[in-house]
Amino acid sequence: VRIAPMTLETLNPIEPLFLLSFRDISELRRLDRMRSDFVANASHELRTPLASLRGFIETLLGPARADPKAQERFLGIMLDQANRMSRLVDDLLSLSRLELKAHIAPDQKVDLAPVLGHVRDSLAPLAAELDVTIDLHLPEEQILVVGDRDELVQVFENLIENACKYGQEGKRVDIYLRHTAEGGTEVSVVDCGPGIPTEHVPRLTERFYRVNIEDSRSKKGTGLGLAIVKHILTRHRARLVVRSELGKGTDFTVRF
Ligand code: ADP
Repeated sequence: VRIAPMTLETLNPIEPLFLLSFRDISELRRLDRMRSDFVANASHELRTPLASLRGFIETLLGPARADPKAQERFLGIMLDQANRMSRLVDDLLSLSRLELKAHIAPDQKVDLAPVLGHVRDSLAPLAAELDVTIDLHLPEEQILVVGDRDELVQVFENLIENACKYGQEGKRVDIYLRHTAEGGTEVSVVDCGPGIPTEHVPRLTERFYRVNIEDSRSKKGTGLGLAIVKHILTRHRARLVVRSELGKGTDFTVRF
């Protein structure tokens, strides 16, 4: 609490003598902690593949110098680690760009059906590799929302890619575009995978939050996908609703 005395010149008989101003310091502290946790997490995520790269380079310069087979294997692992670092840097850049962006102009309209078709086509190779079928269920009429096309592509790419990767054993992913009873629009991405334990659901959109870190790493995750989704949806005044049942599957619905 700061108490600022007013000078006699500014004093008006009916104005109070002191001005009390309240500032919620605990909120500022929380934001500060979140920021430093984020930097610590990002550094840790980058340091791990970097340490592994350094180890392999030392081995290649030393013990594996005359072993072409080992060299080939190690170079493959090094390429994977370098790719992992690139994905992480790309996601970090996406997040920081989103933080700097202005609000979305209300006259920017996006036709959702072609956006979903585009995302499905761009993920077709991954789906084929994982043996997952992606089905798109569209209404007869055109559905437009106010938004930024590229950002919405990024949202649905993340959700549909996650559904293919983490719901792989269910073999199918269904995408529904529809009007809601309240006059809004929603897109649901539904998989038949193992589901997410309830206690994890509220934290999924936190940066670097993963249900199973090894599973995410092996599936080329960075832990930033849903944080980016949440950021973009907030800019669009849209909400992400997650429903999941263990052993049955998961439904990520975006409500505009
Ligand atoms: P990642 O880069 O690890 O995929 P995300 O932020 O996209 O990070 O997702 C966070 C975590 O949520 C994932 O690591 C995974 O554990 C879980 N997850 C996301 N989508 C699904 C899904 N459809 N089914 C089961 N788990 C999921």
